[in-house]
Amino acid sequence: MKTRKVRIGSLHIGGGTPIRVQSMTCTKTKDINTTVRQIKSLESAGCEIIRVGVPDMDSAQAIAGIKKKINIPIVADIHYDYRLAIESIKAGADKIRINPGNIGSAEKVNLIINEAKKRKTAIRIGVNSGSLKQSTAAALKEKSGNKKADMMVASLLEYVSFFEKQDFYSIVVSLKASDVNTTVAAYRLFSQYRDYPMHIGITEAGTELGGLIKSSVGLGILLHEGLGDTVRVSLTAAPEKEVYAAYRILGDLGLRKRGVDIISCPTCARTEIDVISLAHKVEAMAIKINKPLKIAVMGCSVNGPGEAREADIGIAGGRGIGIIFKKGSMVKKVSKKDLLRVFENELGKIVDGKE
Ligand code: SF4
Repeated sequence: MKTRKVRIGSLHIGGGTPIRVQSMTCTKTKDINTTVRQIKSLESAGCEIIRVGVPDMDSAQAIAGIKKKINIPIVADIHYDYRLAIESIKAGADKIRINPGNIGSAEKVNLIINEAKKRKTAIRIGVNSGSLKQSTAAALKEKSGNKKADMMVASLLEYVSFFEKQDFYSIVVSLKASDVNTTVAAYRLFSQYRDYPMHIGITEAGTELGGLIKSSVGLGILLHEGLGDTVRVSLTAAPEKEVYAAYRILGDLGLRKRGVDIISCPTCARTEIDVISLAHKVEAMAIKINKPLKIAVMGCSVNGPGEAREADIGIAGGRGIGIIFKKGSMVKKVSKKDLLRVFENELGKIVDGKE
C-alpha cells in the first residue's frame, strides 16, 4: 500500500521507501555510554531506527548525548508524562512515540504537537490493545469483524483527527495487540481510512522461539498484503536478534536483502554429521555477515549438495569427513575436525568478494 512519506531524521518511512528495520534498547537510557554501546552493536546488525525508553527526565536529556555518538535516527518512547515528550524533542529525538490516551488532557497533547512542529520531529501515535476507550468503535463506517480491532482503529482515528486539526501530519501509526488476528484486523481496517505510514509488530510477542513464530505469522500476513512501512520484531531476547529476525522475515518475502539465509536439512537416516550443532555454529558465524548469501548445512553428501544447489556455499556430511560445496558442486573434502575452520575460510573469500 502506498503511504505518505514521513521524515525521521536522516531517513524516511513510507512513500515507497524500503521497509525499515527497527529495534529498541534494553539499557537504562540515562546511562549514555552503555546505551550507545548497544545502539552501535545494533547498527552493525543492520538496525536502521532505534527506540529508547524515556521513563524520567534524565533519560530524556540523555538523548542529546546519545545522538551525538550514533548514526541512526533515535525515537523516544514516552508514557504518561507530556513533559518527557517535550524534553525528548528538545534533546533532538527524531521521532517520539506516544499513546495520546495515556498522556492526559488535549492541552498536554497539544503542547507536544507544538514542540514537534517547531523542531520538525515526527510522532508515532501508538495504540495498544490494552488501553482503549470502549465507546468509540460505534462511529466507524467500516468494521473488521474483530471487536477489539475496531476499538483500536476507532481510538487511533480519533487521535489522528486531533493531530490533523492541529495541522500536524508527520505521523506514523501503530496498532499493536499481542495476538495475531487482532493485530492483522486492526492494520487492515486502518488502511481503509488513512495513508499514514505504519509501524507494524506484534507487541510482547514472547520468547525467542515463540515470539519469533508469532511475529513471523503476523508480520508475514501484513507484509504480504503490502501493509507495513517499518517493522519491529519484539522478542524476549537480545535486541540484535530482533534485527536479524526482521531481515529474515523481509528477506523471505523478497522485500529486503541483507544477511545470510541458512538452509539446513531436517536430518534423516542418511545423516553422517551432527547437523544441529553445525547449523547453529554456522548461524553464529553468519549473523555478522551483511551480504545477502545462502549457506547450506546438509547431513549427507548423497543428496545434500544437490538439494541445496542454489546455496552459495555449504557443508555436507560424508563418511568420516565433511564436504564443502559451492553452488551444488563439491569443492573440498575436509576432516571433520578441520571442517568449520576451512569452511569459515572459504566463506570469508565469498564475503570479501574474492570469489
Ligand atoms: Fe537426509 Fe541427506 Fe536430505 Fe539431510 S540432506 S535430510 S541427511 S537425505
